Amino acid sequence: MALIVPDLPYPKNALEPHISAHTLEFHHGKHHKAYVDNGNKLLAGTGLENQEAEAIIKQVAGDASRIGIFNNVAQAWNHSFLWKCMKPNGGGRPTGAVAQKIDADFGSYEKFAEELKNAGVTQFGSGWAWLVLKDGKLSVMKTANADTPIAHGAKPLLTVDVWEHAYYLDYQNRRPDYLQTFIDHLINWDHVNSLL
Ligand code: MN
Repeated sequence: MALIVPDLPYPKNALEPHISAHTLEFHHGKHHKAYVDNGNKLLAGTGLENQEAEAIIKQVAGDASRIGIFNNVAQAWNHSFLWKCMKPNGGGRPTGAVAQKIDADFGSYEKFAEELKNAGVTQFGSGWAWLVLKDGKLSVMKTANADTPIAHGAKPLLTVDVWEHAYYLDYQNRRPDYLQTFIDHLINWDHVNSLL
């Protein structure tokens, strides 16, 4: 199946005042769409075009001759995942299974929140911060540019985009403030629980 840009799971202004409709118009309507359009162009005729994005990512990861496919397909997948990681009136302490697993694997919610924020703040340049499940254990990781935990044998549970296009219109250079707001007001813990 060809890559697609899924509809946002909420109206474009639903995450205000934390993320503006203006940001989502560009982020979802322009940036995400460009990765999908470029990915579909690069996939055409390769024999990969009928596969799921996750399968394509695993096959082309680390192959320098197919870096363009990796970058665009991984960014298409990362963004489709990102929209589901946020919701209006989200964030704060989780409930359900993930709450217990965070306490078990990080020691406390506060420790998890600190690690996620720190991963996003210290990702030099463009990239992503993640909560992942690997070998039955939760951990935080960061990836550069299009890179994704899928290429590293880890299961993504949550992501926050730290490319400037994700926050610059609303937060300018204040990436730490954007990350704190994401943690306190935007995380969709229902989505995370559905993946555990
Ligand atoms: Mn983005």
